[in-house]
Amino acid sequence: MNCPYCENKDTAVLESRVLPLGEGMRRRRECKKCTKRFTTYEKVVNLDLKVVKKSGGIEDFDREKIVKGIKKACWKRPVTEEQMTDLVDDLELKLLNRMTTNVPSCDIGKMILSRLKKLDDVAYLRFASVYLEFASAADFAKLITSLAN
Ligand SMILES: [Zn+2]
Repeated sequence: MNCPYCENKDTAVLESRVLPLGEGMRRRRECKKCTKRFTTYEKVVNLDLKVVKKSGGIEDFDREKIVKGIKKACWKRPVTEEQMTDLVDDLELKLLNRMTTNVPSCDIGKMILSRLKKLDDVAYLRFASVYLEFASAADFAKLITSLAN
């Protein structure tokens, strides 16, 4: 979402309000560069995305499920609702821009991990511990060490 005043890409969401009757979302944003404020309306679209699981099974993309997993990882961490919403929005957008509607679950996991890493180390490790299915404690320790460097 570019700032309409200076075209800067980096804007912060100040407030999100779900409109009644599934009409979409109203967001109050502030440009991080020129600090001017503006409002955007986002229409909720049904994502026609399928997730291909490790087992080979295919299921519908479920935003709620992803949000739940991220919230669990961010429990009692200094990550705001807004940051989590932005993360999932960003993820959805990236997935929508792909040429295919079938996305491997491991791709989604990796995309979430790379974003969580920027937000909070602990949340990142929590999500990684669930998602990456470490073969041993040593593998997990390796990941922690890599964060410290
Ligand atoms: Zn601006």
